[in-house]
Amino acid sequence: MSDLILHRCNAMISKEEREVFVNNALKQADLLCKRKNVRLTPLRRQVLGLVWQNQKPAGAYLILDQLQKQQERRAAPPTVYRALEFLIEQGLIHKISSLNAFIACTQPDTVHVPQFFICKACGNALELNSPMISETILNRAQEMQFEIEEQVVEVSGQCTHCHCHLPQREEQPTL
Ligand SMILES: [Zn+2]
Ligand SMILES: [Zn+2]
Repeated sequence: MSDLILHRCNAMISKEEREVFVNNALKQADLLCKRKNVRLTPLRRQVLGLVWQNQKPAGAYLILDQLQKQQERRAAPPTVYRALEFLIEQGLIHKISSLNAFIACTQPDTVHVPQFFICKACGNALELNSPMISETILNRAQEMQFEIEEQVVEVSGQCTHCHCHLPQREEQPTL
């Protein structure tokens, strides 16, 4: 499956590597927004940086909390929600519906409908960009005359880091 791109598990990335990732991602976002003629304001950029810095999908309240720690003036929740909405619209981040959380997109320069593998043990989410999956859904919807509002494909399980490194799997919390 050449169209299936599995990104590296966040748990395997060091702090230094992450900082380089974040800086590169922000630079890429600057360029993308410039090309689209939309404004990546300092606040939107800061929120994007926080979404990147988090090791796993982060909820709006966590991001708000982290933002308030970085700022002298307290950011209001609607401001953060608007910034998150802007970042989603521009394809710079994705919302993980089942977790009600946000994760940075690692391929913001390509138009895609993402799918996610979500690890129940560490809470990490791995993005798949499989055009094959989204096209199958679109084709089937057409055949069945189903009008799609939004495609959400989120698969839960355990990532390679967790199922390989957990000492006693029977101690996993059951849902
Ligand atoms: Zn993406
Ligand atoms: Zn995991």
